[in-house]
Amino acid sequence: MEMKKVRTRFAPSPTGYMHIGNLRTALFTYLIAKQNGGDFILRIEDTDRERYVEGATEIIYSTLRKCGLNWDEGPDIGGPVGPYIQSERMGMFKKYAEELVEKGEAYYCFCDKERLEEVKAIQEASGIMPMYDRHCRNLSPEEVKEKLDAGTPYVIRQKVPLDGEVTFHDELYGDITVPCSTLDDQILIKTDGMPTYNFANVVDDHLMGITHVVRGNEYLASAPKYELLYRAFGWEVPVYIHVEHIMKDKQHKLSKRDGDASFEDLIAKGYLTEAVVNYIALLGWAPKGEEEIFSLEELIKEFDIRGLSKSPAIFDPLKLKAINAKYIKKLPPEKFEEYATPYIRQTVKRTDVDISRICSLLQDRTEVFTDIPETVDFIDSLPEYDTSLYCHKKMKTNEENSLESLKAVLPALESIGEADWNEETLHERLFALIGEMGVKNGLVLWPLRVAVSGKAFTPGGGIEICALIGKADSVERVKRGIQKLS
Ligand code: GLU
Repeated sequence: MEMKKVRTRFAPSPTGYMHIGNLRTALFTYLIAKQNGGDFILRIEDTDRERYVEGATEIIYSTLRKCGLNWDEGPDIGGPVGPYIQSERMGMFKKYAEELVEKGEAYYCFCDKERLEEVKAIQEASGIMPMYDRHCRNLSPEEVKEKLDAGTPYVIRQKVPLDGEVTFHDELYGDITVPCSTLDDQILIKTDGMPTYNFANVVDDHLMGITHVVRGNEYLASAPKYELLYRAFGWEVPVYIHVEHIMKDKQHKLSKRDGDASFEDLIAKGYLTEAVVNYIALLGWAPKGEEEIFSLEELIKEFDIRGLSKSPAIFDPLKLKAINAKYIKKLPPEKFEEYATPYIRQTVKRTDVDISRICSLLQDRTEVFTDIPETVDFIDSLPEYDTSLYCHKKMKTNEENSLESLKAVLPALESIGEADWNEETLHERLFALIGEMGVKNGLVLWPLRVAVSGKAFTPGGGIEICALIGKADSVERVKRGIQKLS
C-alpha cells in the first residue's frame, strides 16, 4: 500500500501573543511532520473577528521562525491548497454543507432567534441540557423549497443520528465512544452563509490533506461531531492527538495573567529561545532515556507520540531555569556577551570596566539573563552590607581574623602600581602575602571578596573583582571594610 505523505498543520487564532500551550502544539505538530519526512502547514484561523488583534499574525510568524518551526506552506509563502488564511476561504464551505443536505446528512433550519431562545429557556427550566429540538429536521422537501423560495433566512445543521453511539480514535486516549443522543445538531453554515468553526476546520483539514491533528483536549468534546462529519462526507479521518493542558498547579491552567504563559513573557524574562523550545517539548512528553537536553534537530529524531502523557503537565519555572542555564553555558562567549551586555549595563554604568571579563565570569553561573543586573550591581557602588558576611564557616573566618587579614591586604594592594593592576599581579602579590602569613587562602581571599563586593555571591572572587573595579576603588573598599570591622 502506498503510504500517504504526512501533513500536519498548526492552526492558531491570532490572539496577539503565543501561549506556550499553543507553541507546544506547534512544536509537536512540526516534529510529527518532520520525523516522517512530511509537510508542516500553517493555517491562520482568524474567523473569530471579535478576538482579532492587529499585528497578531506577525507575532505568530516571528515566534515560529525564531523557534525554527519553519512551515512548508502558509499564508506568506502560499502552497497548493491555499488560501491559508481561514477568512479568505469563507466562500468555499457552503457547497460542502449543501452536499451533505443532498446526502441526507444535514438540513436547512429556518427557526428564528425567538423560537430558539424559547426552546432553550424551556429546556433550561426543566433541567435538560440545551440542544436544538430538531424542529426543522423533518420538514418535507416541499416545505423547504417554499421557505427557500420565499427567502426565509436559514442555517444548515448537521443531522446527528438519533440513537446509537459514535466512536472515534485518539492516539493518546484510544477509542472514545459517546451516545449520539448527547450530540447537538450543530450549525454548519450560519444565516450569513459563513461556516461555523466546527465545520470549517473539518473541511479545511480535508482539503489541505491533513493526516495528523494535534490540538488541545478542549476539542475532545467536539471530536465525535467531527467524526460524524468525516463519515458523512466519506472522507478519511486524520489521526487525532489531543494533548493535555499546561497547568500552573494542580488546579489552575497556566494563564496569561501568570506572566509565564506566553513565549514573549519568557523571552522578556531572559530565557533563550532554544531553552524554551527544549523545555516545552518536555511538557507532557517524556523522552525514552534520561537525557532531557535536545536541540530541535534532536527532537525530530527523539520525539515519539507514545511518550505523551495523559495527565496535565505542570509548568515548572525551576526546571526551565535549569535548562536555560545549560543553554547559556553552551553559548559561544561572544554570543553570551552580546546577550548579557544590555543586562550588565542596567546596573553597571561605569565605562572603565572590562565587560568581556565580567561576561566570562558570569557565563557559567547565569541561569537567566534577568538575574544579571542584580548580580553585578556592586561593581558601580559598594552596597551596604552587614559585617556578619565576614563570618564564613568553611573559610574559618570571623570578624576578628577578617580585620587582621584586611589590614595586611591593604598595604599589599597599595604597593601595586596602577600600570600593573591586573589579575596576574594581584594573584602574585596576594599569594605571596598568604605565604608570609602562613594561613589558608580563604582566610585572606574571603574577607577581600566581601570587602570589595559587599556580597556573599559574586561572579569571580576577590582578585577578579579588584582587577575589575581598579586600584582606587579596591583600596577604598578595603579601607571601608577595616573601618566597619574596627
Ligand atoms: N484555531 C484553533 C485554536 O487556536 C485551532 C484548533 C485546532 O487545532 O483545530 O484553538
